[in-house]
Amino acid sequence: PLALALTGVVRRYTQGQGALEILRGVDLTISHGQSVALVAPSGSGKSTLLHIAGLLEHSDAGEVFIDGTPTARLPDAERTRIRRMSIGFVYQFHHLLGEFTALENVAMPQMIRGLTRKEAEARAKDLLSYLGLGARLTHRPAELSGGEQQRVAIARALANAPRLLLADEPTGNLDPKTSDHVFGAMTELVRATGVAALIATHNLELASRMDRRVTLREGKVVELA
Ligand code: ADP
Ligand code: ADP
Repeated sequence: PLALALTGVVRRYTQGQGALEILRGVDLTISHGQSVALVAPSGSGKSTLLHIAGLLEHSDAGEVFIDGTPTARLPDAERTRIRRMSIGFVYQFHHLLGEFTALENVAMPQMIRGLTRKEAEARAKDLLSYLGLGARLTHRPAELSGGEQQRVAIARALANAPRLLLADEPTGNLDPKTSDHVFGAMTELVRATGVAALIATHNLELASRMDRRVTLREGKVVELA
């Protein structure tokens, strides 16, 4: 099945007496191993779309299929289970735990899922090494550069081998050279692992390296060239 399928997704927010319909029937499918850039202006609904695709927020109408499973009517506990098992998130700011090392930050989600510390740390080490952080395993976030912190966040998002990676401006707070490096590492890992990726970015140069580009126009997803 498709990693992600959104069909007819509607989301409106109440605004005073009225309602603001920010998503007006979004259709979007992403298959495994495919990376899609979401390039759209601020306020157009990118974060809302990512939250709905990540089962963090409900839509008002439409359906969200994760790996073929319709999720809109599932109980919250089941949505949370699917989210933890199948979806990885990367944000503009990394949200790493400051008191833990890079290795521990990446190992932890796997231990929560039931792996032993040894198994979790072995996989964490592989991922971090792949991202060029083999010599930073025991550093805490404050001892890492911005680009390194973001790479740790990417490793953590992929630690549980999700089917879908969702990223909201993952390089938004990095300088152009570091962005380029982090983005390259992320897209390489996406290809290597076969995870489907939906990545919101303002950076057209980075978007051009992904398999597809889409935008939001009047509350709908439109494919770009
Ligand atoms: P983007 O990520 O593209 O900047 P967002 O999805 O964050 O856009 O927001 C789209 C629009 O929806 C904005 O106008 C924002 O003010 C509005 N919005 C987002 N979340 C809420 C909310 N919880 N309540 C009311 N309005 C919201
Ligand atoms: P946890 O195991 O920490 O409880 P969840 O299953 O609640 O995590 O969430 C999975 C992912 O979604 C985590 O990366 C978490 O940071 C992110 N997340 C959870 N709630 C929100 C939210 N309201 N907005 C944005 N991201 C969230």
